[in-house]
Amino acid sequence: MAQHLSISPLDVLKQYWGYESFRQMQEDVILSVLKGNDTLALMPTGGGKSLCYQVPAMMMEGLCLVISPLIALMKDQVEHLRRKNITAYAIYSGMSRKEVINVFQIASESNCKFLYLSPERLETPLFQEYLPGLNVTLIAVDEAHCVSQWGYDFRPPYLRIAALRNELPHVPMLALTASATPDVQQDICDKLEFKNAKIFRQSFERPNLSYSVFNVDSKINKVFEILKKVPGTSIVYCRSRKRTREISDLLRLQNISSDFYHAGLTHDERNQKQDDWIKNKIRVIVCTNAFGMGIDKPDVRTVIHADVPESLEYYYQEAGRAGRDGKTAYAALLYDNKNLSELELVLEQRFPSLDEIKNVYQAVANYLQLPSGMGQGQYYSFDIADFLKKFKLSGHTTLYSLKALEQDGWLSFNEQVFVPSSVVFTTDKDYLYEFEKRNPQMDSLIKTLLRNYDGIFNHTSFISEKLIAGILKTDVTIIIQQLKQLHIAGIIEYQPQKDSSQLYFLRPRIRIEELVIDMQQYQKRKEVYQNRIKQMQAYIREDVKCRSQIIGAYFGDDDLKKCGICDNCLKQKNATLTKEEFEALHHRIINIVKYEPIPAKELVHKLGNVKKEKAWKVIDLLHAEHKIEMDKTGKVRLK
Ligand code: ADP
Ligand code: MG
Repeated sequence: MAQHLSISPLDVLKQYWGYESFRQMQEDVILSVLKGNDTLALMPTGGGKSLCYQVPAMMMEGLCLVISPLIALMKDQVEHLRRKNITAYAIYSGMSRKEVINVFQIASESNCKFLYLSPERLETPLFQEYLPGLNVTLIAVDEAHCVSQWGYDFRPPYLRIAALRNELPHVPMLALTASATPDVQQDICDKLEFKNAKIFRQSFERPNLSYSVFNVDSKINKVFEILKKVPGTSIVYCRSRKRTREISDLLRLQNISSDFYHAGLTHDERNQKQDDWIKNKIRVIVCTNAFGMGIDKPDVRTVIHADVPESLEYYYQEAGRAGRDGKTAYAALLYDNKNLSELELVLEQRFPSLDEIKNVYQAVANYLQLPSGMGQGQYYSFDIADFLKKFKLSGHTTLYSLKALEQDGWLSFNEQVFVPSSVVFTTDKDYLYEFEKRNPQMDSLIKTLLRNYDGIFNHTSFISEKLIAGILKTDVTIIIQQLKQLHIAGIIEYQPQKDSSQLYFLRPRIRIEELVIDMQQYQKRKEVYQNRIKQMQAYIREDVKCRSQIIGAYFGDDDLKKCGICDNCLKQKNATLTKEEFEALHHRIINIVKYEPIPAKELVHKLGNVKKEKAWKVIDLLHAEHKIEMDKTGKVRLK
């Protein structure tokens, strides 16, 4: 592999990014990639995964193919790289065939370093056609947990990645994810056909983050209470869009500055709200889990879950948005007894019956007026609200039926795809000159387009009407109107922005009798999901074990120290013992463990009606004084 050995990863980091040093683990991952190893890196969100492929790619010849399912993040990265004068492009759902060909051509002819692709693109003939000319020397798989059926966000097109091994046999792969259980880690390495996999896992320790769980009667009162006690920026997560608004309104009534956020808002609304929050114009953002992707705000002091999240994967990621600056922060999860049983209902909702799935497939085909045998490889704008209304379907059943169809490789559904407006000139210079002379009122817009968007004369470029209106000091509506006029006059091709969900048909539409879903796999996924819910419930019910340790163990990190600051750790610290109580417990514990090792939990149980916190406290003290020891399986024995 050709590398510029004279420069080090650190030189590249300084030169292009202007950062002084690597973060924990980044350099190890980068060196592994440079050695040509297939590598899996687990780092929390915001931990700096992107640099793990961007830095080595800058040290290698050729192009780095980045596979990512999240269009918004893809676009962020591309803009980010371009600002550093690094050539980068992205191809994602919603782009026209012409636009895609255009990008592939530029990517193979220019010195393009990064090409971001959404996974279903890998299956298209166009990609197959252009792949040999791209000179790919590194493959980065972002959000790699999507490869695994047992992960919380399985996406079948990710399975196509392994086939790249045939086309690019010697190209190393770097898989990146924020959270994967040990099973899922193994599955990622298998499914991507890793050879000599190198796995790097950052510690799940967050020493400044205090986790707590509260059983409450009134959630809103608890939210007030926390926000009053802990000053500073906050995120409040809820499960439904409706609730985000309700809670935000209630907070405002209490003079707490807040706003709500969910995927049902328009692109512009979401940007505005997010921006206001990041700039501290509002203190609290009340949101669904649509919020937070790619957001890197260091000074969040509290993350409050007003509803129970579906899994510890989500919880760890969402709670982990607090305290990135290293200062003390709080992650509070609120629940009432009803919530725990509701989680089981979620399970049924999440896995609709085969009949329901078929019904949704049929309705989709009718809605799109798609005849049998058609549709393969096509994208369709899909207004889900309109669809639900026309076919009188339930939102949940429909969404999860689409998900089931997606997981069996029939179609793929993307909620919220935002494609910015685009322009390309469709005339020659002479005619344009004539046109400007005849239409002087259009002159300034045409000049602004040519001046601000490099290559727009020949290639489709994304534009921002707002930006142009700003430059020309006029109203956006006027700019849009003028762009439409230029389009009609044949001077440009103007495509206004799209902000809608998209459906992509991986296979041709078939008759409903022919639709098969692998029910055995489906059932297995349901069981895995059920297990995830159980673990979430166990986390909530647990009133002794350190919460940081529970989360660490869930992701396979068994050597975490007690955090000392979660609710359970604090409870133990605060349990005060009299000297007599201590002596008595000391004796009884020694008497129990001197015969045979016993699991710690059982030991506590055997101590009978002694307060659990007190029992644990004495066990901890005896442990610290080396009078007893605890082995790997959690059994206590005499030292
Ligand atoms: P992830 O993909 O793991 O969620 P990103 O790659 O998006 O995280 O990085 C999060 C932020 O951290 C970015 O703003 C990035 O520029 C910054 N960052 C990453 N590595 C470093 C570093 N070594 N020094 C300073 N900032 C860094
Ligand atoms: Mg990332």
